[in-house]
Formats: sequence, structure tokens, C-alpha cells
Amino acid sequence: MRIILLGPPGAGKGTQASRIAEAYTIPHISTGHILRANVRGETDLGSEARTYMDAGELVPDQLVMRMVGDRLREPDAASGFLFDGFPRTVPQAEALEHLLVENEAPLDAVLRLAVPSDEVIARLTGRRTCSQCGRIFHLVFDPPSEESRCDDCGGELVQRDDDTEEVVRNRLEVYAAQTEPLEHFYWERGLLRDVEATGTPDEGFASATAILDTLR
Ligand code: AMP
Repeated sequence: MRIILLGPPGAGKGTQASRIAEAYTIPHISTGHILRANVRGETDLGSEARTYMDAGELVPDQLVMRMVGDRLREPDAASGFLFDGFPRTVPQAEALEHLLVENEAPLDAVLRLAVPSDEVIARLTGRRTCSQCGRIFHLVFDPPSEESRCDDCGGELVQRDDDTEEVVRNRLEVYAAQTEPLEHFYWERGLLRDVEATGTPDEGFASATAILDTLR
């Protein structure tokens, strides 16, 4: 299955993507995650991307497309994929479409997770991520048992540099201007499906699987 998750920062894409990828045995490809790993590893890509990421701006399309092209050539992506945080602009969506036509591997669905902006700000500013295993917690909605420690691996929980309120507001503006037009792009292609994203993670997952099960 080839799926895209679309929605503003804080809509729960990362949480749902991990669960969907596991349930349908497809790789979860998060461009944000790959970029953050490059920043941590101090690679050339990481040093080019960092300034944009810290400001909540998008990394240039060319860099992102090179990274995605490489990722899609890895063997596990041959059976399908779930993109989380990609594409983010119409040029990225067009470039992906071109790649998938070449591979004769069309998309099955684009799942849209819609959440109002004030809820997104509350969700993101309380988000904490395990610095070791990447598990996501929330100080209010999904707190860890021990403050600042991951329940799974004991790693330190940290706030992402771009989850502060000022940067979150900018990320939302960037989403509205550059990513929202993708809803129309995929609606025109008959691929857009709405997932209920304002409830609990379990409700969101149930809504997503109800859609995906009709596509198998
Ligand atoms: P995310 O983890 O998806 O919220 O992404 C974190 C940051 O990485 C974004 O605010 C962007 O700076 C950058 N980023 C992630 N994916 C993309 C993409 N597809 N295109 C451009 N920038 C991206």
C-alpha cells in the first residue's frame, strides 16, 4: 500500500503513521525524522537543512527530493510506504507523482488529518520526544510515568527545537501557504480521504484503518 498522511504540524501524523505502518507492514518514511537525524549526525544535508528547520521554514524542494528519491530506492519501499510530512509543496507532489509513474507504483490514498490551530498549538508545545527511541509523549494528554524519562527505554525526553510557541505559529502559517494547496491537488486526483483527528489517538487510528481496509 502506498499512502500519504497530510495535515498541519500537531495533527498526530507521527503517532498515526507509526501505528498504520506497523499494522499494514509498510515503512514509515518521515522526512522530518530523516532531516533531524542528519542534523544530529552533522552531515552536509543536516547543516544545509538546519537553519530552515530551526525557523520553522521548509527545507528547499531540491534537497528534500534528493533525499526522498534515495529513500524510495531502498528495498523495503518496493512493497509500499507511508509518507509522513512529505510532500509539503506542490512541486514536491509533482516530483513524487513523476517518480511513481516511472516506477508504475501509483498512490492508493492521501489521508487528511484536520485539527483546529489552537488545538495544534496546545498539542505541540506540550509534546516531548524520547531522545533515544523517538517515542512521543505529551505532558498533559499522554504523560510519562517518570518526569522527563521514556517509559519504554528510559531515554531522556526532550522538546523539539521547533516546538516552541513562536516557531509553531510560523510552521502553521507555512502549512497554510505552502502545504494546504496539496489538498486540492490530491482531491482532483480522487485520492483525498478524511481521517477523524480531533479525538484520541485510538479514535484516529480506527478512522484511518476503516478507510484503508476498503483499499486492500
Ligand atoms: P516534521 O517533523 O514533519 O514536522 O518536520 C520538521 C521540519 O523539517 C519542518 O518544519 C521543515 O523544516 C523540515 N521538513 C520536513 N519535511 C519536509 C518537506 N517534505 N519539505 C520541506 N521541509 C521539510
